[in-house]
Amino acid sequence: MRAAVVKEFGRPLEIEDVPIPEIGPGEILVRTEASGLCHTDIHAANGDWPVKPSPPFVPGHEGVGVVERVGPGVVRVREGDRVAVPWLGSACGTCEPCISGWETLCTSQRNTGYSVDGGFAEYIRADAAYVGLVPDGIDPHEAAPLTCAGVTTYKAVKVSGARSSDLIAVFGAGGLGHLAIQYAAITGASVVAVDINAERLETARELGAEHVVHAGEQDPIAAIKRLGGARAAIATAVNPTAFEQALGSLRRGGTLVCVGLPADNHMKLPIFETVLAGLTVRGSIVGTHTDLQEVFELHRRDMTSVFRSPLVLENVNDAIEQVLDGTAPSPRLVFDFGAGDGAAAGANETAAVTA
Ligand code: NAD
Ligand code: ZN
Ligand code: ZN
Repeated sequence: MRAAVVKEFGRPLEIEDVPIPEIGPGEILVRTEASGLCHTDIHAANGDWPVKPSPPFVPGHEGVGVVERVGPGVVRVREGDRVAVPWLGSACGTCEPCISGWETLCTSQRNTGYSVDGGFAEYIRADAAYVGLVPDGIDPHEAAPLTCAGVTTYKAVKVSGARSSDLIAVFGAGGLGHLAIQYAAITGASVVAVDINAERLETARELGAEHVVHAGEQDPIAAIKRLGGARAAIATAVNPTAFEQALGSLRRGGTLVCVGLPADNHMKLPIFETVLAGLTVRGSIVGTHTDLQEVFELHRRDMTSVFRSPLVLENVNDAIEQVLDGTAPSPRLVFDFGAGDGAAAGANETAAVTA
């Protein structure tokens, strides 16, 4: 099968012909239909984070496809079912986080496209217990970005405590951010989106952001304070400065939800202002199975839109460049393996496909 492989950190990925994975008990083999490019895959390929994957590996944790084979003992899914293979590839199922609905915090978890091979391949080996079940009627090219960007920001909005009449700031309106805006708006909150890319801010407006701030042209802290300050700020940008600005934009009692994982790992946090304003800073990592099913359900009910462009796996290195330099035609790029709207639109086409 074809796969895009990270052979060495910081080097272009290589398209290789590799064996179709063997599956064992509790596992399934998924024939990939669509696979999103998350900024995390770029961090993985560059070895950006303190805990690193081990090359060679296949990135990708927004893979969606059809179950081709099931291993011994699998009862949750059957051949022919459409599933999503998320970042949380598996967890122990018995530790305190696992049994209290926080399997995303399990210290024995395996991560798709990081510690186990992921979705930048024609087939994916997955733990049947941890895949998402994609409801009928959702195009695989839309299900793919929901599998990480969707579930991650859905969870971030949940933990932000956003409620109707709140002002919620979303810093970074890319793959994650364009969905964060929508989940925040679904709570009834008013959303202010912040980015340094004017096109992403146009999309943000289309998706329901009431206010937008171009952080390259004006000071987002002053702009958001003029609106009364944010009850919560969700930082998805790939730059610590945006996290500092997000903290600075909070009103008293506000919450910063850290979601982005910039290569530059540290932000400055002013102790005095944090204490006096009673601020909360918290991290949020992807979402649980249940969160993912809720994300799919919202999409099935037409309550969210996924802005994405299809491309072929062979263009993976160009795609990474486009995400990094801000020229990607839409907030999420999705590799097309020949199914759904992406295929119908032409596998090489990079014009934005929106829904
Ligand atoms: P992306 O590249 O699609 O989006 C990032 C956006 O941030 C872009 O629109 C970019 O223009 C904007 N940006 C860059 N610098 C900025 C600044 N100074 N101020 C405002 N906006 C700025 O990336 P993505 O796929 O949305 O991922 C974003 C980050 O989230 C990555 O670091 C990724 O690893 C991380 N991530 C975290 C989780 C989690 O569970 N916590 C899950 C997925 C991704
Ligand atoms: Zn566990
Ligand atoms: Zn991701």
